[in-house]
Amino acid sequence: MSSVRIKVLGSGREVGRAAIGIERKGRILLLDYGVNFDEEDHPIFPGHVRPRDLDGVILTHSHLDHIGAAPYLFVSMIPNLYATPVTLDVSRLLLLDMIKLNGPYLPYDDVTVEDMLKNAKTVTYGETVEAGEFEFELVYNGHIPGSASVLVSVDGHRILYTSDMNTVETKLMEPARIEGVKADTVIVESTYGASNHPPRREAEEEFYQAVEEVVRKGGTVLVPAFSVSRGQEMACILAERDFEYPVWIDGMIRQIFEIYLEHGEYLRDPILLDKAKKMFRMVKSWQDRRRAFKKPGVIIASAGMLKGGPSLFYLKKMHQNPANAIFMVSYQAPGTPGRRILEEGVFGEESVPVKARVQWFDFSSHTDQRGILRTLKGVRGLERVVLVHGDPQVQEKLRDKIIEEIGVEVLIPDNGDVIELD
Ligand SMILES: [Zn+2]
Ligand SMILES: [Zn+2]
Repeated sequence: MSSVRIKVLGSGREVGRAAIGIERKGRILLLDYGVNFDEEDHPIFPGHVRPRDLDGVILTHSHLDHIGAAPYLFVSMIPNLYATPVTLDVSRLLLLDMIKLNGPYLPYDDVTVEDMLKNAKTVTYGETVEAGEFEFELVYNGHIPGSASVLVSVDGHRILYTSDMNTVETKLMEPARIEGVKADTVIVESTYGASNHPPRREAEEEFYQAVEEVVRKGGTVLVPAFSVSRGQEMACILAERDFEYPVWIDGMIRQIFEIYLEHGEYLRDPILLDKAKKMFRMVKSWQDRRRAFKKPGVIIASAGMLKGGPSLFYLKKMHQNPANAIFMVSYQAPGTPGRRILEEGVFGEESVPVKARVQWFDFSSHTDQRGILRTLKGVRGLERVVLVHGDPQVQEKLRDKIIEEIGVEVLIPDNGDVIELD
């Protein structure tokens, strides 16, 4: 009898906080160890795992919901850590930033983060890696630069963990290359498992036309964007079309621009990103920041949900001018200022009506129902599907669809659940 088990430590019936343990004979290969944030913006950790039981930790990409808890495993010892070079570099930036904002609520500090990263082993796509009881390889998954799915081989089982993936081409990434992989079990993200995104090209064109319209009439467009990937992608959309007006880039988006350019081989089109960097202006001082919103142009700034950072500064300066626009290109979580502006048209404690034009554009870096089904159909030898990283209502709809179209077993585990593979 096989003794392989999947332990869902996080991302069970929830979006984010990814943490999946694959266990054999008491040894564990840990896939991601991320956090979510509560209403006060304090981190919530996944289920516990003893560092001494680990044969390895793999970080699939640099989003905090996949890496935020990882340094905790390195407080008392140094397990083997595996990730692509881009993931490691961007993770450093994000983890150190999280310590700045949330230090008192974290069971580790910047020294732990450096210890973790210093000893990490860099891995790239297609390389076979042995980690104790396990063997694994990273598979290109189209989510953000450096991101990967993980194919784990252990005791005759082949388990594919997609992590966050995208199946369409974006300005930064090629579509996922999962089709053709052989796996009996697929642990798949289900963030948008019940709906479909419009074609990417349409979203890009719609965004560009809207930006041009506002700027041509003398307005300034604020694009609050996630620092990791989305900010750079928006810059590429403007650069590709030789946008003629000034574009300012502010916040952590700038540093990640540099990291991505250092690892051009992880980009679909490094020349385009380089062009964007040369065409547009990086905000380097308060003087720049005050200049940026005074003339027609575009400002791409962190943070994506307007919870803080330079995007919040610009919003306060810009939202009372009807010539301006706030174009949201990132997911807006419930309770964030971004979501409130979109849904209620108001900002701040006084609920001041926003006079600038407000619009949302669908630029997800997660695949949709169509993409998930196509991916699963492309896996050879598939026997069971485990849905993670999704809301339960979405997961139930997706499960029905998978059973109907593919006819394999579908599980929707909760956090703390253990799945025995037979
Ligand atoms: Zn995620
Ligand atoms: Zn992600």
